[in-house]
Amino acid sequence: MIPICDLKQQYLALKNELDDALKQVATSGRYILGPQVAALEQEIADFCGCKYAVGVGSGTDALHLALRALGIGPGDEVITTPFSFVATTEAIGLVGATPVFVDVDPQTFNIDPENVEAAITSRTKSILPVHLYGQPCDMDAIVDLANRHDLAIVEDCAQAIGATYREQVVGSIGAAGCFSFFPSKNLGCMGDGGMITTNDRSVYERVEMLRRHGGSVKYHHSELGLNSRLDEIQAAVLRIKLKYLSKWNARRRSIARRYNQLLANVDNVKLPRELDKDGRFVRAGQGNDKSSLITSVYHQYTLQLEERDQVAEALRRQGIETFPYYPVPLHLQEVHAQLGYKRGCLPVAERLAQSCLSLPMFPELSEENQQQVVDVLLSATGSPSASYAGVA
Ligand SMILES: *Cc1c(COP(=O)(O)O)cnc(C)c1O
Repeated sequence: MIPICDLKQQYLALKNELDDALKQVATSGRYILGPQVAALEQEIADFCGCKYAVGVGSGTDALHLALRALGIGPGDEVITTPFSFVATTEAIGLVGATPVFVDVDPQTFNIDPENVEAAITSRTKSILPVHLYGQPCDMDAIVDLANRHDLAIVEDCAQAIGATYREQVVGSIGAAGCFSFFPSKNLGCMGDGGMITTNDRSVYERVEMLRRHGGSVKYHHSELGLNSRLDEIQAAVLRIKLKYLSKWNARRRSIARRYNQLLANVDNVKLPRELDKDGRFVRAGQGNDKSSLITSVYHQYTLQLEERDQVAEALRRQGIETFPYYPVPLHLQEVHAQLGYKRGCLPVAERLAQSCLSLPMFPELSEENQQQVVDVLLSATGSPSASYAGVA
């Protein structure tokens, strides 16, 4: 079986280091908001080039609390993408605001800034771009719109930790960056966890207070908050893994580049595209490291194919796990039915939901296993260049 993501391999590779850290927290007797969380917050702030970082209970809470801290609430509209995990719009709903969906770019799957301006109303307070699959959104255009219309940008960086847009690391561009440490993310802990980054002292102070029941002095509460703190034990795990993150992200890019070469001649399959520094589309892993200032960190490597479900089934029969991230766009989810979006109103997102397929992608994926994925995919798509050499 070749899984889409293999967390056990990562644990085993770092077993001694991780086991020591877990034991150290256990024997310290400090489990909530202690030295591990404080140290990780500083390390993530430095990693992202931000002044502040606050550890919270999950990526969903990071989005929720960032919106709260920016004063976004009932009556406000937040413009976002229909092509993301539900947590993006869940957070908007949880603060009482309304998500407004605009269609995505068919090459990058990310929010298309060209569609944003027409969606701005007097109630719009924020733009919430999601750097999907690890690829930064077209941030120059989004920042320009936000500046002209006085909107706060909240970046959903759950899939993109370490991705860069020109000189900036994602999470440092908007008013707040929101990260998830869900186990399968590029930097994952052993449970739930999240982080908010910001350069704005008032956002930092407010989030810091909201995560601990809305008070900065113990047993004095100024507003309704949440219990949403990153655990010491998770912070200890993350501090170890953070040391390897850049190496892992580089490995993901090189896996993407290789998929790209091996799948170059397959019919009816569209490969991922990246934006380069001039805003042109380049092939996965090519808008790279030296020539481009925009770097995806390939949380997923996602194809577009016509016969998606048949191909996925053929791969499954050969022991290869894939997933359609995401099969239903957010505007057509039952939870958002009351918003009144109808099938056909965001055609690009709807088409991508029918055709997207994410392949196995994790830093430990071996060359042989990657070759096997490619061989099965070639035969499943009936590509003339299929070679069965690597298939057992
Ligand atoms: C994972 C994810 C989240 C939510 O993070 P959790 O830690 O699972 O709450 C939000 N947005 C996107 C795009 C995600 O992939």
